[in-house]
Amino acid sequence: MSDLSAPRFHDETEARKFLEAVRWPDGPVCPHCGTVNEVYENKSKLGVYRCASDECRKDFSVTVGTLFERSRVPLHKWLLATHLLMAGKKGISAHQLHRMLGVTYKTAWFMAHRIREALRPLSPEIAGPLGGKNKVVEADETYVGGKAKNRKNHIPPKSAVISLVERGGKVRSATSPMSLARRYAMRWSLRLIARPTS
Ligand SMILES: [Zn+2]
Repeated sequence: MSDLSAPRFHDETEARKFLEAVRWPDGPVCPHCGTVNEVYENKSKLGVYRCASDECRKDFSVTVGTLFERSRVPLHKWLLATHLLMAGKKGISAHQLHRMLGVTYKTAWFMAHRIREALRPLSPEIAGPLGGKNKVVEADETYVGGKAKNRKNHIPPKSAVISLVERGGKVRSATSPMSLARRYAMRWSLRLIARPTS
């Protein structure tokens, strides 16, 4: 388990920066039109970007299209909850989350439900066949595949994980909001596993 004292688990800005670095390794990607790294930063609202494409010009943040979107719960609590659900050997109950995150039991239950939902493997029709070579995908495959014992803990089998990661890299290939959310959730959590101290 990585260090629970990591700043991204306790600070909203650190959490956002972490998610941005993981989700956007090549710079912000507009979820509306797919434009990469051509944005205006909103100086008064940190973390809000405006697409610089002439046809688009829409605002977005890193949580758009993820399971963290439109939540009143601070992002760092979401990251911690996701980490606890992913990393614990026996998982974690909503009651434990409630105490550890300092949110109501109802909120903790909702968060746990949403995270587990996002981590479920996609159906083959949605995920599509695996195709092409992707170095990032392959690196993740090696690590996740070696942790078979963790599969008891709500982590889907290796093949499902691979397809999610691969699709998650193709920002323009969204099929539905939910599947997009799942892909990003999985992509993010995989990176967390692969680089626990990042
Ligand atoms: Zn755009």
